[in-house]
Amino acid sequence: MKIKGIERECLETIKEGAKALHPREFLALLSVGRDKSIISEIVMLPQMTYGKRHATFNIYMAPIDFSIVGTAHSHPSGYPIPSQDDLITFSKNGIIHIIIAYPYDDNSWKAYDNNGKEVELEIIG
Ligand SMILES: [Zn+2]
Repeated sequence: MKIKGIERECLETIKEGAKALHPREFLALLSVGRDKSIISEIVMLPQMTYGKRHATFNIYMAPIDFSIVGTAHSHPSGYPIPSQDDLITFSKNGIIHIIIAYPYDDNSWKAYDNNGKEVELEIIG
């Protein structure tokens, strides 16, 4: 399974969520819909919105939902580069991971696979 794109609406949800929580970190889960290669839903859990370090996050805290394919989180410090902790999280959870950095716009996010390798995601719609 390979993730090829993200719906524009989902990207906007991530941007808005990251802005709303700044300077705390935003964290959400990415989910696919009927097309298993396109991220079409952002899943936010209440316990994720209180600035806990994302490195402690485990995707299996999420409700059982096999359409969840990865995570999105923010870097309020401004660089969308995975930290050592991020790389560990990526390797354990899901297949696609988005990091959005301040100022949370179309040019300040990147997507990575579970090996921490940058991947291209097409914005759909
Ligand atoms: Zn991070």
